[in-house]
Amino acid sequence: AVESRIAAVTGANKGIGLAIVRNLALEYPKSPLKSGPLKIYLTARSPERGSEAVKTVNEDEQLKKAKVLVKDGGDVEVSYHELDISKKESIHKFRDFLKKEHSQGIDFVINNAGIAMEGFDANVVKTTLKTNYYGTLEATRELLPLIRNGGRLVNVSSSSGALNKYSDEIRNAFLQAAKTDVPAVTAIMEKFQSAVEAGREKEAGFPSAAYAVSKAGETAFTKAIAMEEEKRGRGILINASCPGYVDTDMTHGRGTKTVDAGAITPVMLALKDIGEKTGEFWRSEEIVEW
Ligand code: NDP
Repeated sequence: AVESRIAAVTGANKGIGLAIVRNLALEYPKSPLKSGPLKIYLTARSPERGSEAVKTVNEDEQLKKAKVLVKDGGDVEVSYHELDISKKESIHKFRDFLKKEHSQGIDFVINNAGIAMEGFDANVVKTTLKTNYYGTLEATRELLPLIRNGGRLVNVSSSSGALNKYSDEIRNAFLQAAKTDVPAVTAIMEKFQSAVEAGREKEAGFPSAAYAVSKAGETAFTKAIAMEEEKRGRGILINASCPGYVDTDMTHGRGTKTVDAGAITPVMLALKDIGEKTGEFWRSEEIVEW
């Protein structure tokens, strides 16, 4: 029998990630996947910002009222662990910690960490891909094997990774790669990087937009890995999602949704009955076209 559930959220010290932690705590008691207490690892690259965020969760009025936290008589506990997804060693450290601490496995991984930089040049592309594409991919690769049968992995991608910004050739390459394997997706990211370095991304069929391409890559690799995982028959559901246009530091006050509204779809993909759907792209609690 499973005695407890374990969740991990990346980039959870603020914004949508922090809201995902709070809403996992609020929704877990009602989840069909509930089994004993839930431990949530609120991870962040900064120990100071991460520990501070755990404090705000523990002092949160809504959580107090709902009595979901262990200290209020509930089932949910939130702990900090360091995780910088742009650093392999950091991902490996967290993986090894989870393996040691929870040898029975973990249940929910929400890859939320991401960056959006100003400007556009080869360096911006490199740095953006390093976190949003390669970092999220490495975290997915390393944490997925720890997930128990029936668990969930959710990637917070974006509708800005939509395929309407590309030449037919690149759009088809994305669609094909998502049905093939991760190296096929990574090859598109490499093609984009070298095209930008040559100042020829438009001719190569890409937009001059680092964030958008990184998120198209994230959605594509999520689909490829979901397909791969489906063949293992462990019943693990892997989906990509867009939180909507959310008011966070990333959107500089222009986002129209609250962070709690932005957390709804990712939290649903982790905790609710989603009809065994895997390898899909979701927005506003529905499967939408990529
Ligand atoms: P924020 O900028 O508010 O938060 C981003 C979070 O990611 C921060 O906690 C940040 O940590 C963390 N982070 C950045 N780089 C790393 C790293 N290398 N390792 C670990 N953590 C990291 O953005 P949002 O909350 O708006 O964004 C969350 C996710 O939602 C992102 O993936 C974003 O692309 C996606 N998204 C957001 C939309 C929006 O409208 N806001 C729309 C579509 C998608 P730190 O504080 O240390 O910088």
